[in-house]
Amino acid sequence: MRGRPDAEQGNNNTLRAGRADDTGGRAMKKLYRDLTQEAKASYGITEDRNDESWVYCTTCDRAMKQGDCIVGEHGVMQCAYDDCMPEGNLAFQSLYGWDALQQELGGEAAHWPERPEWGKRYERRGASS
Ligand SMILES: [Zn+2]
Repeated sequence: MRGRPDAEQGNNNTLRAGRADDTGGRAMKKLYRDLTQEAKASYGITEDRNDESWVYCTTCDRAMKQGDCIVGEHGVMQCAYDDCMPEGNLAFQSLYGWDALQQELGGEAAHWPERPEWGKRYERRGASS
């Protein structure tokens, strides 16, 4: 899946400058639902860009509302679950629209419900050993 904003590249220095109040660095999470419509258009995972649309994380096999996803420093949307550990590479996006992915996976995800539940794992059949 592509479609990341290339304009973000080379802009990382200016983003960090002049934020003395933000001591922790990671203390403030920026959520998708807090973005402007313009930003949602570039960061969004599902086609409708809706906060309420479900997305699926291929790292932890769980679903979440798109609006709860975290906008990472690298311009990549990250999993909403705190205990999800994308191995080292934070620039790797592991999120996909629930409906789109289910269609793409076909039989691997045929047992998935139309509407997933928060916190529940939905494994892909035959995807892992
Ligand atoms: Zn995850």
